[in-house]
Amino acid sequence: MNWLKRFMAGRYGADQLSLALLILSIVLTLIAQIARVPLLAAISYIPLALCIFRMLSRNVNRRSMENYKFSMLISPLYARFNKLRRRFSESKTKRFLKCPQCKAELRLPKGKGTIIVTCPKCRNEFRAKT
Ligand SMILES: [Zn+2]
Repeated sequence: MNWLKRFMAGRYGADQLSLALLILSIVLTLIAQIARVPLLAAISYIPLALCIFRMLSRNVNRRSMENYKFSMLISPLYARFNKLRRRFSESKTKRFLKCPQCKAELRLPKGKGTIIVTCPKCRNEFRAKT
């Protein structure tokens, strides 16, 4: 493995963007296989080639800047995904609803019947079934 270490010295290596490109390539390949679209199979090599290019690149500053921009681009998606995951894991004990006035998201305990909720954001009071 020493030759690999020497080969990768000064090169950028793997990051989130490279991983995303690799996954994109695999997904495109699978879709091409299932849908039997040879053009898509050819296109699926583009993200793979980009991934390899980025990993072997010696322009570390530029690659890390690309990765930073990519992270900024996907962070809202990632936050939304985490919110959905949290909602799902708490769906048995909590009820999620929006304040009718300010649209803030509220998390209430389940199984308490109809209660009067005070929105912590705008102090609006409303009835809600939990
Ligand atoms: Zn409110």
